[in-house]
Amino acid sequence: MSASSAPPFDPRDPLGIDDLLDPEDLAIRDTVRTWAADRVLPHIADWYERGELPGVHELARELGEIGALGMSLTGYGCAGASAVQYGLACLELEAADSGIRSLVSVQGSLAMYAIWRFGSEEQKQQWLPRMAAGEAIGCFGLTEPDHGSDPAGMRTYAKKDGTDWVLTGRKMWITNGSVAKVAVVWAQTDDGIRGFVVPTDSPGFSAPEIKHKWSLRASVTSELVLDEVRLPADAVLPGVTGLRGPLSCLSHARYGIVWGAMGAARAGFEAALDYATSREQFGKPIGGFQLTQAKLADMAVELHKGILLAHHLGRRMDAGRIRPEQISFGKLNNVREAIEICRTSRTILGANGISLEYPVMRHATNLESVLTYEGTVEMHQLVLGKALTGLDAFR
Ligand SMILES: Cc1cc2nc3c(=O)[nH]c(=O)nc-3n(C[C@H](O)[C@H](O)[C@H](O)COP(=O)(O)OP(=O)(O)OC[C@H]3O[C@@H](n4cnc5c(N)ncnc54)[C@H](O)[C@@H]3O)c2cc1C
Repeated sequence: MSASSAPPFDPRDPLGIDDLLDPEDLAIRDTVRTWAADRVLPHIADWYERGELPGVHELARELGEIGALGMSLTGYGCAGASAVQYGLACLELEAADSGIRSLVSVQGSLAMYAIWRFGSEEQKQQWLPRMAAGEAIGCFGLTEPDHGSDPAGMRTYAKKDGTDWVLTGRKMWITNGSVAKVAVVWAQTDDGIRGFVVPTDSPGFSAPEIKHKWSLRASVTSELVLDEVRLPADAVLPGVTGLRGPLSCLSHARYGIVWGAMGAARAGFEAALDYATSREQFGKPIGGFQLTQAKLADMAVELHKGILLAHHLGRRMDAGRIRPEQISFGKLNNVREAIEICRTSRTILGANGISLEYPVMRHATNLESVLTYEGTVEMHQLVLGKALTGLDAFR
C-alpha cells in the first residue's frame, strides 16, 4: 500500500487503533462517552473540591440503564459485553474521573463478579439483577487496617454458631462502603478464607466514611465494622475457599484498570495538547518549542502503546487465554505511565496545571490511589519477577 492511500494523521488516534473496533464496540464507547460528558464532566470539579459524590444512587441507576454495571457478565440482567467492550467503557469513565470508574469496577468486577462466579443460584437471583440495574450498590471488603498487600493474614473472623455465621472484624479503605446495600466480605473461618454476602442493614454492621482523602475525592471510601454480625448459613459464597476467591475478583477488576488508567492519561494528554497550541509565550504557542514537543511526543507514544496493550489483553481475555501475570503486566505499565503522562501534562499547563479548572491535577492525584489499589506497583513487579525468574521474592 502506498503512503498516499493511508488515512490522514489523527492526533487523537495517531496509530489508527480505532480500526480495531467494530460498529458495536464504537456504539458502546460512544454511549458511555456521551453519558460521562453529560453527567460527570460538568460537575466533577465541584464534587472533587467538596470531596463528595452527590447523587451516587441516581448515577448508579443511570449506569445500570446504559448497561455499564457487571457489563461483561452474562445473565441476571447483565449486558454480556465482550472484555474489549467492558474495557472501552472503563476508559471512557476514567477519562471523566477515576472515582466514577472505581464505582463501576467495584460494583461489577468485584462485588457482582464474586456473587456471579462463586455464589449460589439464590444469591445470584437475589442480588445480581438489582445490582446490574444500579438499584443496589455493592462493595468488596478485603483490605484490613493491618493487612493490605498481604491479605492472607486477615483477622476478620466468621465463627459458626449452630447453623448461623457470626462475623467480627474491620475492613479498611472500602470503595462504595457507606452507600452499599450489600457487602461481599472476606473472612477467616475454621476451614480457611471464605466470602460472605452481607446485607448492610444487618445488625452489627456499620460503614463509617473515610474523610480527608487527597485522591479519589469524588468516590465514597469507608471502613466496614463488623460487630458480631449474625448471618444465616446460606450467606457464605459456596463456590470457593481460600485466597483464590478474592484474587480472581481482583484480576477481573485490574483488567478494567489497565484500560481505565489510559482514560485518565488521555484526558491529561488532550488537555496538554489543547493548551500547548493556544498558550503563547515568547511570541509563539508553547507547543512550537522543541522541549514541549518532546513532552507531547513522549506522552502520545506511551498513551497509545498503553491502549494497544489494553486491546491485546482484552482480546486474550475474550479468547479465554489471559493469565494473571499478563494482567499484572498491563496494570503495572499502564497506571505507571498514566501518572507520568498526567504529571508531564501538569508541567505544560504551568500554574494553570494546579487548578481544578483543568483536569490534569485531579487525574494525577486520583492515579496515586489507582497506583496503590488492586495491587501496588511493587506487588505487580513481584508477580512479574516471580513469573520471569521462577523465584518468589514476596517474603
Ligand atoms: C481510594 C482507595 C480505595 C480502595 N478500595 C478498596 C476496596 O474497595 N476494597 C478493598 O478491599 N481494598 C481497597 N483499597 C485498599 C487497597 O487495595 C490497599 O491499599 C492496597 O492493597 C495496599 O495495601 P496497604 O495500603 O495496606 O499498603 P501496604 O500493604 O502496607 O504496603 C505499603 C507499601 O509497602 C510495599 N510492600 C508491601 N509488601 C511488600 C513486599 N513484600 N515487597 C516490597 N514492597 C512491599 C507496598 O507495595 C507499598 O508500597 C482501596 C485503597 C484506596 C487508597
